[in-house]
Amino acid sequence: MPDASDSILPDYQGLPRPVTRFAPSPTGYLHIGGARTALFNYLYARRHGGTFLLRIEDTDRARSTEDAIGKILDGMAWLGLDADRPPLFQFARADRHAAIAHRLLAEGRAYRCYATAQELEAMREAQKAKGLPQRYDGRWRGRTDWPEGQPYVVRLQAPQDGETVIDDQVQGRVRQANGELDDFVLLRSDGTPTYMLAVVVDDHDMGVSHVIRGDDHLTNTFRQLALIRALGWPEPVYAHVPMIHGPDGAKLSKRHGALGVEAYRDEMGILPEALENYLLRLGWAHGDTELVARAEAAKLFDLDGVGRSPGRFDLKKLESVNAHYLKLADNGRLAGLAAPRMEALLGRELSDSQRDLLLRSMDELKPRAKNLNELAGSALFLVRSRPLPMDEGAAKLLDDAGLKLLGEVKAALEAAPQWEREALEATAKQVAEAAGLGLGKVAGPLRAALTGQTASPSVFAILALLGREESLGRITDALK
Ligand code: GLU
Repeated sequence: MPDASDSILPDYQGLPRPVTRFAPSPTGYLHIGGARTALFNYLYARRHGGTFLLRIEDTDRARSTEDAIGKILDGMAWLGLDADRPPLFQFARADRHAAIAHRLLAEGRAYRCYATAQELEAMREAQKAKGLPQRYDGRWRGRTDWPEGQPYVVRLQAPQDGETVIDDQVQGRVRQANGELDDFVLLRSDGTPTYMLAVVVDDHDMGVSHVIRGDDHLTNTFRQLALIRALGWPEPVYAHVPMIHGPDGAKLSKRHGALGVEAYRDEMGILPEALENYLLRLGWAHGDTELVARAEAAKLFDLDGVGRSPGRFDLKKLESVNAHYLKLADNGRLAGLAAPRMEALLGRELSDSQRDLLLRSMDELKPRAKNLNELAGSALFLVRSRPLPMDEGAAKLLDDAGLKLLGEVKAALEAAPQWEREALEATAKQVAEAAGLGLGKVAGPLRAALTGQTASPSVFAILALLGREESLGRITDALK
């Protein structure tokens, strides 16, 4: 017998409160808006010593796929948004949802509706013609003249009088006249639960105390509250967070660019802590601090800091936050993230010694990159085979005058007593002074020879990193 009791699931009893949850529908990817919702729920629970839960709302069987579930779990793991319990899968609980609908039927708080699709269509047409709002008119309320063997849906007998008031933690006090509520469907004619029923039952059964979600759900909340009240269950605290908009102010959509977090990770080379910090600030403020890392956010985050107007997604800003976290990131981690991108660009694997060079170079490379693609691209010169390809600007630096200087530098470097950054720089300075030129004039051709580029980290750092043999070899190539 499916359970229609008021008890919450054993695994969820006695959880530290507040209990929040993220409840994505697995229909594609982990949307960045969803990621932000997850983050707010996570941080709220951490901030107040509560529990963060995950529920996969996989009731839309046509659109929910294993692949999409995998992407959500993967995205959450990447962002480090670990739930305190294994995920609850909504579809598996359809019997429990149905049992609750039948309980409401038995209690006279819900009723059978036998109206056919055509009949409902005609009802809406008539309402439209009269300029009335189109909603179910309660034609099967209170009736018991049930046609035998006909399919029916179960509808909630929603309150008609008074109003419902929500003290939303973000939106403030919002109200709706109950007359605007329709007797919405709880169970479809095939016995499957609707989203509205499933959400309410699952939130109750998981002991959820705080529902923090996108403000696109605000209108659903009035219906969900009507259902919760019919069941006599405790009402959660609600917080409806404004949607993320694109730079043009329209609701974020595909045409604004990537929507799934994996695109930020894979295609754009964003670090998870950067995406997290960016999403946090896009909708929440603590003074005008831009950079708030996880540990601090978990101490500071609260719903009163969540703004009421939609944040505008700004890729430039995300990249500047990313640049900040790249500078802070561990070199070994960054080398591990850059290496596969370099291998993809080169079409070959890096050797152990090249990986080692990449790691040793990281302090020079990471302050100059806004994302992992740039980091990988900026490291390629380190591992290219000789003779190096020259870009146009570099080739220009190696004109007659440049080559003459380079020859002089080469001779001085060959004679340098020590192959060490400061000493090498002092050597190059002497060459520049002897020629009556600034150091930059000497560094230009040297950089071109060592990297094939006009922009790079300090040439003296590069000389030291590449080592004597490779450096002099590259210079010799350029002089040929
Ligand atoms: N599954 C819903 C969604 O992805 C969220 C439901 C909720 O947060 O209550 O939009």
